Amino acid sequence: MDECPEVVVEINHLRHDQVFHYLPPEEMPDLELGTRVLVPFGKKTVQGWVVGFSAPPPGVTLRPIESVVGDKPDFNPELLRLARWMADYYLHPLPEILKLMSPPEKPVRARKHAPVGGMTLAGRPGSLVLNAEQTVALREIEAALRAGGDARAPTGDDAGYRACHSGGAGSAPGAGQQEAAATGITSYLSDEHQPGAMGAGRQFLLHGITGSGKTEVYLRAAMTALSLGRQVLYLVPEIALTPQAGAWFRAALGDRVAVWHSRLSRGERYETREGIRQGVLSILIGPRSAVFAPFKNLGLVIVDEEQDASYKQQESPYYHARQVAAQRARDNGAVLLLGSATPSLESYTGARDGQYRLLRLTRRPQGRRLPRVTVVDLKQEHDAGHDLRVNLLGQYLAGQIALRLQRREQTILFLNRRGYSPIVFCPPCGLVLKCERCSISLVYHRTTGDLRCHYCNFKRPLPERCPGCGAAGSLRFLGTGIQRVEQVLRRFYPQAGIQRLDFDTTRRKGEFDRILDSFGKREIDILLGTQMVAKGHDFPGVTLVGVLDADLALKLPDYRATERTYQLLAQVAGRAGRGWVPGEVVVQTYFPDHYSIQTACFASYPSFYRQEIGNRESSGYPPYGELIRIRVAGEKEQQVERRIKELAEALAALLTGERVRLLGPAPAPVLRLQDLYRWQVMLKGELGGQKSEIRDCIQHYKKNTSVIISIEVDPYGM
Ligand code: ADP
Ligand code: ZN
Repeated sequence: MDECPEVVVEINHLRHDQVFHYLPPEEMPDLELGTRVLVPFGKKTVQGWVVGFSAPPPGVTLRPIESVVGDKPDFNPELLRLARWMADYYLHPLPEILKLMSPPEKPVRARKHAPVGGMTLAGRPGSLVLNAEQTVALREIEAALRAGGDARAPTGDDAGYRACHSGGAGSAPGAGQQEAAATGITSYLSDEHQPGAMGAGRQFLLHGITGSGKTEVYLRAAMTALSLGRQVLYLVPEIALTPQAGAWFRAALGDRVAVWHSRLSRGERYETREGIRQGVLSILIGPRSAVFAPFKNLGLVIVDEEQDASYKQQESPYYHARQVAAQRARDNGAVLLLGSATPSLESYTGARDGQYRLLRLTRRPQGRRLPRVTVVDLKQEHDAGHDLRVNLLGQYLAGQIALRLQRREQTILFLNRRGYSPIVFCPPCGLVLKCERCSISLVYHRTTGDLRCHYCNFKRPLPERCPGCGAAGSLRFLGTGIQRVEQVLRRFYPQAGIQRLDFDTTRRKGEFDRILDSFGKREIDILLGTQMVAKGHDFPGVTLVGVLDADLALKLPDYRATERTYQLLAQVAGRAGRGWVPGEVVVQTYFPDHYSIQTACFASYPSFYRQEIGNRESSGYPPYGELIRIRVAGEKEQQVERRIKELAEALAALLTGERVRLLGPAPAPVLRLQDLYRWQVMLKGELGGQKSEIRDCIQHYKKNTSVIISIEVDPYGM
């Protein structure tokens, strides 16, 4: 029989990549690859995608495709390859990946892509004179871009792809390789199953301290890619937190730049995507979901703040946009540029091992100095009789704030904890108030007078009597959240302009921008914020940054806790001294000697890396060995426990080698979440060859069960 469309369908428990043959619909005999279709499946009609064409097995009776969805295919062949790669890498069913990547539906009336929000720009982007380090970095990236070929050359779209492979054709033949040889990096083939695997010199890690001018390098690299006729994907952690990036690129490159974010309307999404597909738009700036845009001719992929946890999707399918971006770059013969002041352990190890070419920016432009750091031992302050339990404001820091207010300079204070108090309890009976749906303490929010669960957003008014013993007025607040600090600050500094910046003060559209704008105009003296203040902003008036509790992130039950602590501290510290007055950073901690605090304060990434990578190696955590978390969640704990035990036994029987360890089953660190009990198993070690067996084994357990089974490759958080 002739070749027929192969369709993957959205059915949960099927083998992950199982395809079914159908006859093409009568009205559309020439169905294209990547088309979304509705097909009969058993007695139902289900959605699916055409992922190939082949002759069906003999003897089967084929049913026709019922209908085609949309007026063109959802995916081009490159995106289909990407989906397959993701399905393999993340051990996930292909149809669910395709669903994640599928484009927004065409709106009735389409509009133009959205402009970026107003943000005042200091200086004109693209017009600065680069310093020596920036120049060196840019030169290497540009050489790699040129080696990738000029898309406008008559050799066709993927000329660069071939050029790089053969070291032959292209506008600047072999420049990348020569450069690589000259600087003595060993050749590296990134991914053996990739036909177009690129040598070193096409993947870069730009390690530049905060304020060293990485954005300027991105911008110039993007301009070069554009001049070669290629498109640019520029990923940023959260678009709301980096409004400058869009404005900056717009100012330099005009309306070929599009910004992708969650506030776009359906029409705007559609238009942006179409613009990228047709090549009218050349640069797409966006958070992790922008990685799936249908580029026509991708030449450069930038991942800014590559260590940022927001690149990891925290729900199924648990993909990491940095990994997906890297894969896309490889498949397109594009240059990959990861940038960070505090690289992830994974990426820095990649640079150490020659996978990435390391580019360094070690100075701030125009000789602006890094801030002075003072580490305050909270235990000493406490022993000296200063009451820290309630206000978290040590004597030294309080004095420094007063000094800034006197000099009319600005202060940023950082506490990564929302609400007023994280624990509400009743001393007479010992009850701690918990969420009704999660095994998590409720947080008291003073501004709204209620208790909230920070995991599921459950809310209830603060009760007048203890729900346990009925005592009136007995409830007490333990620990300090950002609202409590705000209250203390207002009492201490009644004359100061104080503004809180957190999830709760920025709920309303435009508030985030408004607050930062106002801070930029120096209408605010003290900006008190959660991790929202840690990122990207550039405020020359800030001469003091205070970290109220550096230890918060250290206490999380996560092997990344120290890395996260280092990153947060280094990022926050980087907010000081952006102007001409050198800044000071005050870090309050109970662990002044902990290496993550010491190295972050004294901006010495390599020494942090050395210690942390040693720990990872001895404990076998990534990047040494892989990690997979398998979770079972359900309403009845017994059922969950039974299922995970069965699953664990099946996996143990499968993984007989010595290179993989199975940890658990054990309850998840937060056992109950949104009414579901969760148990987990971790697989740790060298899983390589057995990944598809693991997937099939788990897929099998998804059949006929009311529990939810999820697989997270390289899991984040709890
Ligand atoms: P990073 O992203 O590395 O933290 P930015 O790109 O935000 O740093 O740059 C910090 C500041 O330095 C910005 O105000 C930027 O305009 C400025 N800057 C960057 N490069 C130069 C340069 N070559 N000369 C002068 N100022 C520069
Ligand atoms: Zn909850």
